[in-house]
Parts: sequence; structure tokens; C-alpha cells
Amino acid sequence: MGARIAPRDDVALMEGYHSPQVSVDVRLNTNESPYPPPAAFLDTLAAQVRTVDWHRYPDRAATELRRRIGELHGVGPEQVFVANGSNEVLQTLSLTYGGPSRTVAVFEPTYALHAHIARITGTAVAEGRRADDYSLDLAEVRRVLAEASPAITYLCSPNNPTGMVEDRETVEEVLGLVPGLLVVDEAYGQFAPWSALELVSDNIPLVVTRTFSKTWSMAAARLGYLVGPSWVVAELGKVVLPYHLDSLKQAAGCIALDYLAEMEQRVSQLTEERGRVDLALRDLPCEVWPSGANFILFRPTARDGGEVWQELLDRSVLVRNCASWPYLDGCLRVTIGTTPEDDRFLAALREILT
Ligand SMILES: *Cc1c(COP(=O)(O)O)cnc(C)c1O
Repeated sequence: MGARIAPRDDVALMEGYHSPQVSVDVRLNTNESPYPPPAAFLDTLAAQVRTVDWHRYPDRAATELRRRIGELHGVGPEQVFVANGSNEVLQTLSLTYGGPSRTVAVFEPTYALHAHIARITGTAVAEGRRADDYSLDLAEVRRVLAEASPAITYLCSPNNPTGMVEDRETVEEVLGLVPGLLVVDEAYGQFAPWSALELVSDNIPLVVTRTFSKTWSMAAARLGYLVGPSWVVAELGKVVLPYHLDSLKQAAGCIALDYLAEMEQRVSQLTEERGRVDLALRDLPCEVWPSGANFILFRPTARDGGEVWQELLDRSVLVRNCASWPYLDGCLRVTIGTTPEDDRFLAALREILT
């Protein structure tokens, strides 16, 4: 019996990324779409399975998918990088521009994977704080960027888990300050009134990341992308594993884009439903943050957040427990589901809190 080899020292100290996958009636914890993609998408994809050259490696450059995504956003394929979920896009950015002796900057509370992926890739993390209302504090941004000179600065808009959208002036201001790349994570971009995609150009050190997991109802497929300067895309192509994106997934992405109108329809339906859930939450003893995404952050004011999370789970309703996360004391995050799912959530919460 050999001794167990220890992982890298910093990895040994890490906790990993946790989001419980438990079997419940109402699953509102990971911001997926409650609706499957259109039936016609599934039929076309099923037929596509037979046409894939399964004995050949996929198109390494994902030429057609990048062309189609570029077309959607009015840029050429040389400005599009595609990978297995936007998390792999973020990881590739970190492997390319981060690493030992480099730093990324994040402004907490925000998406935990930005800092986690940085650390996994051996990159230091400079952590700034948002203001008490979770808005971005530009004085704090200046301080962190001046002290840490980060290779990558992350913003997330709408921000997960607060739901807050950064306005154009704020993003432009940060863009004027960053010494390296600015990455705007727009996993929920279709819910927001504007997109930093408007600002992308070959002369600007800005990349915008998007995903098929949320608005496109394709979390199971693991597909995400970024739009940015072609010189960034070219460097990422050197770092990502060869043939990383399988043929069927490339086809699935192209087929999904044929159903843009259906995606936008789901987004407007969820936006309307969000308004209804927001109003209902404000009728309960909860602090509620206005959201520009498909989820809402709230804090029960008279009860412990972690206990409320457990009591919801006891009623087979799963939301995200942020109660012990930094700067989110006692908070829970609920994904907008179908109307019957949201009604079950609201009824359970009402029962627990009143
Ligand atoms: C869900 C989420 C992602 C993950 O997207 P995948 O494409 O599923 O990897 C990225 N960023 C944010 C802010 C998210 O909430």
C-alpha cells in the first residue's frame, strides 16, 4: 500500500464549490430555466445525432457555431470563443491571463466561481467590497485596482446573487480604470435592459461572457461563450484543450439559435413572473432586493435564514442558501420557476414566516 499523495498545498485547503443536488418537488436553487427548449429543437437535434461523423474529431475551431453566435451579436467569428459552459470560458481566461504572480479582482458579494477558478489556476485574488446596498463603489474599485494591478477584473451584470444590473456609465468608468482585461459576466444578460456587448471592440480590453445554461434552457448541454477582441480569442485558442467542444454540442448550439424568438418569449414570461414573486415577497417579513435576472435575493427579517432554508426543504422546496456567505448574512436566493412552482414556494414561505 502506497501513501496517499497530497494535492497541491493550496488545493488541500480549498473547500470546492457546493450546491446541493437533492431530489425535491420544487427546485429553485440554480437559476436554470423552468421550461425545456422547444419540441422542434429536440426533434432537429435527435435527427442530427445520426449525421455526426462519430469516428472523427469535432471541428476544433467550432467554425459554424462561432459564426452563428457572432452573427447574433454583430461580430465576426474571430471575436467569439466557445467552451463547455461559461465556467470553462472563465477558466480558460484565468489559465491564459492569470496564473502564478498574477492577480484577479472581484467585488463581493458576487459569483463565487470568479474567485474560485482564479485560485484553482494559481492566481491571487484581490477582493473588493460592494457598498451596503450591493452597488459597485467606484472609490473601492479605484483602491483595489491601484493596489493589486489585476490582470483580470470581474464584474457580473446582472450580478449573481444580488440581481443588480450595472449601468453603462459604471462599466465604462471601470473600463477606463482597469490595467488588464475587464470581464463582464452576463450569464443573465438577456434579462437586463442593456448589454456590455455594445462596448466590445478590438481596441478595448473588454470581454463579455454568456451561457446557454440559463435563458437558452440548455443547462444540461454545458455550452457558453465570450465575445471580445480577436487578439484575446486567439490566445485562448492556444490554451484550451484540443477538440474541447464535441460535435453534437456544436450542432445543438447552432440549432438552439434557430429558436431565438422562443428564447425571448421565455425571458419575457419569466420577467413578468419575477414581478409577481417580488410583490408577494414584499408582503412577507422579508427584505427583498430588486432583480434584473431570473432570481431574487431576499432575507427573512424575523427568522434565521438557514433555518428558513431547511424548513422550505422540509416542504420539498429547494432554494439557494446564501445565509452564511460573506456579506449575505441570512440571505436566500430563489430562482423564478413556473407559476405553480413559485406558488408552492410562496405558500411554504408564508407558512414558515407567519
Ligand atoms: C450560472 C452562471 C454561470 C455558469 O454558466 P455555465 O455556462 O453553466 O457554466 C456563469 N456565471 C454566472 C454569474 C452564473 O450565474
